[in-house]
Amino acid sequence: MINLKKIKNPMPEQDPQVRARNFEEVAQGYTAEMAINEAMRCLKCRTKPCTGGCPVMVQIPEFVAKVAEGEFEEAFQIIAETSALPRVCGRVCPQENQCEGVCVRGVKGEPVSIGRLERFVADWHAEHEEEMGELLRYEDALRAAPANGKRVAVVGAGPAGLTCAGDLIAKGYEVTVYESLHKPGGVLAYGIPEFRLPKSIVSAEVDKLAEKGVTFINNAIIGRSETIDELLDEEGFDAVFVGTGAGLPSFMNIPGENLLGVCSANEYLTRINLMKGYLDDYDTPVPPGKRIAVIGGGNVAMDAARCAMRMGAEKVYIIYRRSMEEIPARAEEIHHAIEEGIDFQLLRNPVQILGDKDGRVNGIECVKMELGEPDASGRRRPVEIEGSNYILDVDAVIMSIGTKLNTLILDTTENLAANDRGGIGTDDGAATNRPGVYAGGDAVTGAATVILAMGAGKTAAASIDDYLK
Ligand SMILES: Cc1cc2nc3c(=O)[nH]c(=O)nc-3n(C[C@H](O)[C@H](O)[C@H](O)COP(=O)(O)OP(=O)(O)OC[C@H]3O[C@@H](n4cnc5c(N)ncnc54)[C@H](O)[C@@H]3O)c2cc1C
Ligand code: SF4
Repeated sequence: MINLKKIKNPMPEQDPQVRARNFEEVAQGYTAEMAINEAMRCLKCRTKPCTGGCPVMVQIPEFVAKVAEGEFEEAFQIIAETSALPRVCGRVCPQENQCEGVCVRGVKGEPVSIGRLERFVADWHAEHEEEMGELLRYEDALRAAPANGKRVAVVGAGPAGLTCAGDLIAKGYEVTVYESLHKPGGVLAYGIPEFRLPKSIVSAEVDKLAEKGVTFINNAIIGRSETIDELLDEEGFDAVFVGTGAGLPSFMNIPGENLLGVCSANEYLTRINLMKGYLDDYDTPVPPGKRIAVIGGGNVAMDAARCAMRMGAEKVYIIYRRSMEEIPARAEEIHHAIEEGIDFQLLRNPVQILGDKDGRVNGIECVKMELGEPDASGRRRPVEIEGSNYILDVDAVIMSIGTKLNTLILDTTENLAANDRGGIGTDDGAATNRPGVYAGGDAVTGAATVILAMGAGKTAAASIDDYLK
């Protein structure tokens, strides 16, 4: 067992050669012994910088100390006080920019592996839930407030909506979640692939909410089937939370984007994940390709590239216009993508997509870039190197350069104000300018992270409770 104090206990993982061709989970989780060993690396800092670095303020040293003592259920209860989806967060949070980024253990070595410990504790709880069933149900019942007769509609079943729904049902509200897709979960269900976040985890969380009394209405596009005003005035809801995300794909507007073989990462991932295109017994069509270029450097781009490999591509490129220093994806995803053989074309930008006489992609022309002065985001601006154009031989292109907010709710809700990013405008308590209407997550901030969306769902639930009390 490795516990050299300076480095994290490594995570058991599937072999890169093997996993690059299957959809099973890559990281396999700590054993109890590994978790205890890792937890013992914690210095129990009095100032708790790690907790300060967590957007929902999980009491990290406290739960880590319980892991070190082998008290895993107690550790879970500490996490569960603030985090609604710890099995999800332990797998997908960008810990290196949050809790682990400020961990004191990281000053002279690697930080405590807080994310892996969170995952271990939450998985341990889920595995033992069955045997502790009666006790947990009893504790839940003690915690749950009696029904208060007030009704809240939640629009969108992503992490923001699910968290808000969970907090409100526990406070005694009657909660109905409207989801436009046929399954709840938001990006957790349709975007993040099975090999990073098994879908059984997402459905277990949804099932738990349903068991507690949350009603889910799928295939309901609010703004089309009914408006927010109708939910309030005709359906009789006392308040509405909007957590509709930011799932509208962006394109580059370069020549060739309308060729056959070009698609958005969102469409590609939805077909593979939500519509199970990776399973042989589903006939969901997935855009084919043997040599695939994925444009972008975020988590979405990594997911699309790694899915493309697993769907049988021979060569997959990530084309990103800045360098590895600026690349926004989680460090672990980049590391895994490289191990799986994805070819990173850094400081490169596509200028046009090339097609054959039948209108199918047969290449992509790129130009090399260098980094100039910092732009408004503080990151160095990529500048084209004139005359450095070159062509990559590809037969499919997946665009993953970000997503925009869908304006349906803003367009169909009377006098609902937008913020300066084009999202739904809110104050710090997630209240919009319309009394009784609250919003949070990507629908307000633009594409962000799971934990921030969950944090917004929590804030909104507390504000709705104050408003309706
Ligand atoms: C492929 C991918 C990978 C990602 N990887 C990570 C990661 O590793 N770590 C991380 O922290 N973040 C990651 N993110 C970002 C993260 O998933 C989002 O920030 C987060 O899901 C936002 O949560 P949300 O609840 O605001 O919105 P969403 O998760 O987008 O959920 C919104 C829900 O609302 C529904 N909806 C939309 N409009 C309507 C309507 N009019 N009526 C009813 N329902 C509606 C949508 O169908 C969707 O289910 C990733 C995103 C993508 C796309
Ligand atoms: S900062 Fe790191 S070492 Fe200090 S208490 Fe938090 S997890 Fe432990």
